[in-house]
Amino acid sequence: MKNKTYNRRKILIVFSFATVMLLGLIGRLAYLMIFEADYYQAKAEALHERERAIKAARGEIIDANGVVLATNKTVCTISVIHSQIVDAEAVIRMLTSELEMEETAIRKKVEKVSSRELIKSNVKKEVGDRIREYELAGVKVDEDYKRYYPYNELASKVLGFTGSDNQGIIGLEVKYEEYLKGQNGTILTTTDARGIELEGIAEERVEAVPGNTLQISMDYNIQTYAQQAAEKVMEEKQADQVALLIMNPQNGEILAMVNVPEFNLNEPFSLETMNLEAEPEDEETKQNLLNQMWRNTCINDTYEPGSTFKTFTTAACLEAGVLDINDSFYCPGYRIVEDRKIRCHKVGGHGSETFVEGIQNSCKQVDMKIIILCGLFWLIVV
Ligand SMILES: [Zn+2]
Repeated sequence: MKNKTYNRRKILIVFSFATVMLLGLIGRLAYLMIFEADYYQAKAEALHERERAIKAARGEIIDANGVVLATNKTVCTISVIHSQIVDAEAVIRMLTSELEMEETAIRKKVEKVSSRELIKSNVKKEVGDRIREYELAGVKVDEDYKRYYPYNELASKVLGFTGSDNQGIIGLEVKYEEYLKGQNGTILTTTDARGIELEGIAEERVEAVPGNTLQISMDYNIQTYAQQAAEKVMEEKQADQVALLIMNPQNGEILAMVNVPEFNLNEPFSLETMNLEAEPEDEETKQNLLNQMWRNTCINDTYEPGSTFKTFTTAACLEAGVLDINDSFYCPGYRIVEDRKIRCHKVGGHGSETFVEGIQNSCKQVDMKIIILCGLFWLIVV
């Protein structure tokens, strides 16, 4: 009797203990399945899904008439997936010869245990196509875009260029980055535990959105002509640089903006156009020279109008009638203004000259007379 009670009590203890355990487990399971489901689902997907970016095509830059000044060229990115490689030696041999790279560098990447190893980007499309034709397991060829400027040096400091990630670095490329860049897409593929993509499971694609086209007021023909004219002046005057800006006086639109020497937009990091005796060794000097080469002097530097402003003062004088085209002047080589003697650039003086000759000679005597007349005129008007 005593023994029986003892046994029953023991059974009860074991049973209650098991029940509590079971209830605890059910509770935990319910908690994981109901409340933590999203968290674990996301973790599992991260483990089995591989995400690859689809690069968005950058928007083109076109001139006032639709001439394409900046566009994209298809290039390839070559990478390897370690777990999928069957014949590593064949892959190394093929990549070494096709990409013209050091064998040791390629071997290191091919033999590295990683989910995806980048071998080389910005590979020409023909080379990428050839690599694809070998059909070697584990070698991936992805198409990508690279910025391309069909006219190389044309308006280089205005257009600007992009860096390795296709982001704008200087000029309009950086100014209108948010409109030009577009939105990258993604490809989601499901893989097994070893990282091999599973066949038959639909891949999820989010398509890329290409960037907007940027149309500018520049005219390709005027820009080309202005660049040639500026180069001619630079040659004739042995100048270091010449800047030329052509605007529509009716609305201020810029038709041409030239800064010679221009640089090749397809090789923006080459200092070739700087005509240096030797390439600088340290990075800082090189960067300073590059910044100098990329500088758009039309918008970054100030310029004192000086003699170029004579046109406006003389035009104003002629229009107001305070000066006649047939007026004559006499230049003795200087003029006393108040307490000082201002000299003409011709020491002996230009002698007697008409208004037109005075302007042609850039005679200070005539300039001063005009300025005085103009000043009087403005005083009267105001
Ligand atoms: Zn003079």
